[in-house]
Amino acid sequence: MDIASKMARGPANQVSDVMKRISIPEADAIIGKRFKVLDKGFVALVDYMGSDAAIVQAARVSYGMGTKSVNDDAGLINYLMRHRHTSPFEMVEVKFLASMPMYVAREWVRHRTASINEYSARYSIVPDKFNIPDLQEIGAQATKNRQGREGNVDDEVASAFRRDVEEVSDSAYERYQKAIDGGVAREQARILLPVNAYTEWYWKIDLNNLFHFLSLRLDDHAQEEIRAYAKVMADITKTIVPAAYAAFENYVLNSVTFSEKEMAALKDIFAGSSTEDACEAAGLRLFREDGQRMKSGEGVEFLEKARALLRK
Ligand SMILES: Cc1cc2nc3c(=O)[nH]c(=O)nc-3n(C[C@H](O)[C@H](O)[C@H](O)COP(=O)(O)OP(=O)(O)OC[C@H]3O[C@@H](n4cnc5c(N)ncnc54)[C@H](O)[C@@H]3O)c2cc1C
Repeated sequence: MDIASKMARGPANQVSDVMKRISIPEADAIIGKRFKVLDKGFVALVDYMGSDAAIVQAARVSYGMGTKSVNDDAGLINYLMRHRHTSPFEMVEVKFLASMPMYVAREWVRHRTASINEYSARYSIVPDKFNIPDLQEIGAQATKNRQGREGNVDDEVASAFRRDVEEVSDSAYERYQKAIDGGVAREQARILLPVNAYTEWYWKIDLNNLFHFLSLRLDDHAQEEIRAYAKVMADITKTIVPAAYAAFENYVLNSVTFSEKEMAALKDIFAGSSTEDACEAAGLRLFREDGQRMKSGEGVEFLEKARALLRK
């Protein structure tokens, strides 16, 4: 029996089956398990409310008999995702416990729709826990994207950088400890600590906003370190809402959108124009004024999307 029928049958003054707490054995099995991220961080599922069924339940209330045409639950979830009917996804909540370097927390905290409770470095002693990247993780400054990295630096440069990170972390913690031992307030002593010191928080968010977070932080443009957290959170989310996650992957995460200009260029390409001519006609610049091919910009991004389209 589907959820809508159960709701229809439940006596008005009784708690019907549909109101019972939804529990997912696969998700329950991982509650509290700490999945390692980076060198010393982790993500753990603390709790969740709802599941694919809760999304369907909310949607069927909203659409009533109108959902008869979409009688399969996964089909309804796909429909909601496709049509950006987001509020049923807000019926699911997920709570994580996570430990991450401050520089990752700084990016993460920008997602304002979550509720956070963070370890207090005013109240408690900060543990001696710093993010020290592995040698092979140390990348070179990207030339195309100023915010990113591209390839690796020389082994010598990487080793020296890693040594510096270790030394700065050790020295900072020693001085922090000295300040604490000397009676300096914890809230002030902490200013000695670099941004690779780990912090920890509870982070609770609804599924709609979690998908928004994952779409931004699983993306190649996000910094690799926060992406590592997002990947673990994505795997956890899949266990709670497998159908909704599949819909998110299909309609959002692995989809591309084209702007009006890009569609005009695509139309020309399909009609036989060369990529260069089509971009030029659509106003998507590929060349600088001095005739040099551009390394970034809207035209270059369009070509990347078009290539991705052909690869799929
Ligand atoms: C690759 C990448 C690079 C970035 N680089 C920078 C950078 O250089 N500098 C920088 O400062 N940030 C940077 N950010 C952070 C980015 O600008 C966003 O702040 C962050 O991704 C959170 O997105 P959001 O506001 O959509 O999410 P949330 O805060 O979770 O909000 C979700 C949605 O709720 C709505 N909303 C929430 N709060 C408000 C509000 N107060 N007013 C109006 N609408 C609201 C918006 O529709 C928003 O999309 C970067 C993010 C990424 C992914």
